[in-house]
Amino acid sequence: MDDPYAVQPGTKGTVEGIDGAGDLLVRWDTGSGLKLIVGVDRFRKVCPKCGKGYEGYPAMSRVDGSDICPECGVKEAITAFCQTYKTI
Ligand SMILES: [Zn+2]
Repeated sequence: MDDPYAVQPGTKGTVEGIDGAGDLLVRWDTGSGLKLIVGVDRFRKVCPKCGKGYEGYPAMSRVDGSDICPECGVKEAITAFCQTYKTI
């Protein structure tokens, strides 16, 4: 972020919407409402399952359909495969 009011690296926030320019409207845990500009600002998504940050496309949880990190997606897929395999 090239802004004197930029949030510090490591600050978490929740995306509450997208404006007409495609920028992410974020409510930061610090109380700031500074938006994220995709392609300009550096940020990571946080996996709700393991709490780790990740970049790129998420996996869809087999449990509840939520977005999770690719690593958790693989673990869920392997677990589901093993459970299926045991029942045959
Ligand atoms: Zn994860």
